[in-house]
Amino acid sequence: MIVTQNLLRSLLRRLQTASFRRWTLALVLPFAGVVTAFGIAPDTITERIEQNRVVENIALSPAASAASAAQTFWREERIQRGETQASLLARLGVEDDAAVSYLRTTRDARSLFQLVPGRAVSAETTADGQLVTLRYLNGNTLMTVTRDGESFNATERAASLETRVVSAAGEIRSSLFAATDRLNVPDAVTLQMVDVFSTDIDFHKDLRKNDSFSLVYEMLYDRGEPVRSGRLLSAEFVNQGKTLNAVWFAASNGEGSYYTLDGKNIRKAFLRSPLEFSRITSGFSGGRYHPILQAWRAHTGVDFAAPMGARIKATADGVVDFAGVQGGYGNVVILRHQSKFTTLYAHMSGFAPAIRKGAKVQQGDFIGSVGMTGLTTGPHVHYEFRVDNVHRDPLSVAVPVAFPIAPEHKQQFQQAAAPHARTMATLRGTTLSTFE
Ligand SMILES: [Zn+2]
Repeated sequence: MIVTQNLLRSLLRRLQTASFRRWTLALVLPFAGVVTAFGIAPDTITERIEQNRVVENIALSPAASAASAAQTFWREERIQRGETQASLLARLGVEDDAAVSYLRTTRDARSLFQLVPGRAVSAETTADGQLVTLRYLNGNTLMTVTRDGESFNATERAASLETRVVSAAGEIRSSLFAATDRLNVPDAVTLQMVDVFSTDIDFHKDLRKNDSFSLVYEMLYDRGEPVRSGRLLSAEFVNQGKTLNAVWFAASNGEGSYYTLDGKNIRKAFLRSPLEFSRITSGFSGGRYHPILQAWRAHTGVDFAAPMGARIKATADGVVDFAGVQGGYGNVVILRHQSKFTTLYAHMSGFAPAIRKGAKVQQGDFIGSVGMTGLTTGPHVHYEFRVDNVHRDPLSVAVPVAFPIAPEHKQQFQQAAAPHARTMATLRGTTLSTFE
């Protein structure tokens, strides 16, 4: 629990400066440790809480203390489809010519630059982007690149993976990613949280300063070092004063899903937004776009401004009714859901490969990319929702929702959810007298 005055001061200074763009802190605490740790945290929500929480975490984790003293930062990224060496290293925060040329030329790093989509890469850098360590899990082989003075070493060996449960709690001051970066929550985990709550929250439009969140998730470790993130186990999100909870639960004989603490399936028939939330789209405010469409005809949909090429998702399970060019809509996809509902997505630059009339889609499936085809002055998705061919506000229509917990699994669920409920309460700063 001992934090030197100097370390504390330097951390607070870092937290207060605008220059900690990639400043992240290793929040690597075992489950029980966190519960204890946050039991003594103050519970008022103020600007200072997040700092207190962060400082508190440092005090309790030797690994985190060491990392912050040396002022290095970990970033984890999943390799994306169409990734280049440059885009991957940029997302990892590596701005280091020597490291880049080493990685490009050394035979040992060849497996990394096969750029297999979905694989996780993590990098430890200094504040100014110098590479300290890079880890890449290639199947069961762990490749590690470490800085050695002015040069680098690369090693490959069999990984011995161990799963730990990690938690983090934060408050949004500028953006969701700024908050999760500060807590060193990998993007893969942040985006799982976004997915979980996206039938209730449009993460482009609904977030507000002082919204807060708590997360419990798995991290895979190899000999004490984090290698990649795993599944989000439970989450709480306080959005504009309204609290949402989700707990992952898989009955012994079934597929898993996320449920509220009282056992309702969190998934609803329609997503709040057809736009995929990502670092690229998170900076766009969808509410301020006024296209000429509004003059072209009575505006019957919702416009979501986004950069060209951003991914558009099906807001519900359904079947493709139309995919092609249609007047002012440009490239448009119309989906039919449960026979009487349809959704429409206009102005696309292109369609996802599987999208053609009659194709089945699932909620969240990629159906096309943001563009400006048809009658529009800027890239955006024009989204419509119709019931029996009449335009309606999707939020005001009652639609069937996904399945609740089966009665025979209710008790198993309650047992699984109880510790998560306690952790969420503790992460909020509430001390529970019942916690052992
Ligand atoms: Zn529109």
